[in-house]
Amino acid sequence: MLLTISTTARPATDLGFLLHKHPERVQEFGQSFGTATVFYPEAGDERCTAALMLDVDPVALVRSRGRNSPDFSLSQYVNDRPYAASSLLAVALADVFRTARAGRCKARPELAERPLPLEIRLPALPCRGGPELARRLFEPLGWDVAAESVPLDEGFPEWGDSRYVRLTLSGTLRLADALNHLYVLLPVLDDGKHYWIAPDEVDKLVRAGTGWLHGHPERGLITRRYMGRRWALARTALARLAELGDETEEELEPPVAEEAAPDESAADEAAAAEAEAEGETATAEAETGEPAPDAATGEPAPKAKPLNLRRREAVLATLEELGAVSVIDLGCGQGELVGALLARPRFARVAGTDVSSMALTIAARKLRLERMPDSKRARLSLFQGALTYTDKRLTGYDAAVLMEVIEHVDPPRLTALERVVFGHARPQHVLVTTPNVEHNVRYEFLTGLRHPDHRFEWTRAEFQAWAARVAADYGYQVVFKPVGDDDPEVGPPTQMGVFTRDQRS
Ligand code: SAH
Repeated sequence: MLLTISTTARPATDLGFLLHKHPERVQEFGQSFGTATVFYPEAGDERCTAALMLDVDPVALVRSRGRNSPDFSLSQYVNDRPYAASSLLAVALADVFRTARAGRCKARPELAERPLPLEIRLPALPCRGGPELARRLFEPLGWDVAAESVPLDEGFPEWGDSRYVRLTLSGTLRLADALNHLYVLLPVLDDGKHYWIAPDEVDKLVRAGTGWLHGHPERGLITRRYMGRRWALARTALARLAELGDETEEELEPPVAEEAAPDESAADEAAAAEAEAEGETATAEAETGEPAPDAATGEPAPKAKPLNLRRREAVLATLEELGAVSVIDLGCGQGELVGALLARPRFARVAGTDVSSMALTIAARKLRLERMPDSKRARLSLFQGALTYTDKRLTGYDAAVLMEVIEHVDPPRLTALERVVFGHARPQHVLVTTPNVEHNVRYEFLTGLRHPDHRFEWTRAEFQAWAARVAADYGYQVVFKPVGDDDPEVGPPTQMGVFTRDQRS
């Protein structure tokens, strides 16, 4: 089984840093079912290719049957397993490139964030659904897909095609995203997931699928196949993904009816914005107004409002209460809050910044920046930057928002962020939201942190101690608000600190 990953980003040998595997070495990694070898067939400045080769040891495979290990019957592996890229390859890839899949790269942090020109080749991929399914699964994620069926026997074309596909994916994507796509989609294409589907598979899928699976047009098929047709688990996974509220670019395409007329006047726009804002409230009322589930008849409970929406609403309401007129969203991601701020004319100046250019590109599309009326465009600035470096562009706003951002920053870098935001940008108000880790026990099947990129998640006491210390250091007062249902035992899912600068400072 072979998989190769190539890049032409120069110097291409940086791929070695990203994968944490030195281009000049051949490295072996023992797996419970065989050996994974990583080597570089080419390693030049202009093009570098890393190969992951998996030798499956049928004996090890059979012996390794355990709770969390591959579970094969003899008949399955003697036929084709050793030669085909399959879910075993996905497991090996996850193990060997663990750090790269988490999007981390100490030596070159900016490189891990950047989309790179990539080419991934799988010479023999078992694919139930053929080349067509491979295209349906990979194309929506931004890949150019070349997929062709492998004939059963080159010498006897009349025998027809095998169930293998030769797959080449090309695209400009973050390496971590590419690895996560493969991790989820290889077993989905194979559709014979090799090991016992334990409840923590939900967790693995949610982690690997964060940022792209929820909005994928084939998310139902992907989730069901990944879960080995265990419907209850598949439903749980879909619900969790929906809660994370991740969207891929596909979802960002506005429905035609929502398009603004090109000659829309400023007044119309303001009215439309208010209507939009009210629309959200009306939906909320409709939702909370639904009848409670009837235990006797087993009527389904009303659909809970996703946490990301509740967070956004809490932040908007707080900004309004504080009377902020200019707001900067620090670590704005795909720009959902920026969009909501722009829809409210009371926010005269709105800015969004993020270290990820990919996130900003998506934000620009989502906000329909190119077609935005001038009056609205004039209120907005969107720029790339890191919150750990002082930057003049961060100054001059009434309020700054750090919504679900601090937990993405390595603890040793957090003091730099504090200095930049509270010491240098120094807005009147700073709103910080972060997960309340105590609430994690309420998430069925969650075993670790909520998001693969989280560097930490804090208890209420930890967050409040951090916030109190920052407030004291930089001359702010801080109050705390729960976001989401405030569970009597473990508190709310999200915690928010609202900082207000001391009058004197
Ligand atoms: N605020 C958004 C996105 C949260 S995800 C929301 O609530 O939906 C965290 C975001 O922080 C990511 O988009 C990530 O790129 C950004 N981020 C992480 N570290 C950063 C840093 N040092 N500087 C700027 N942005 C950062």
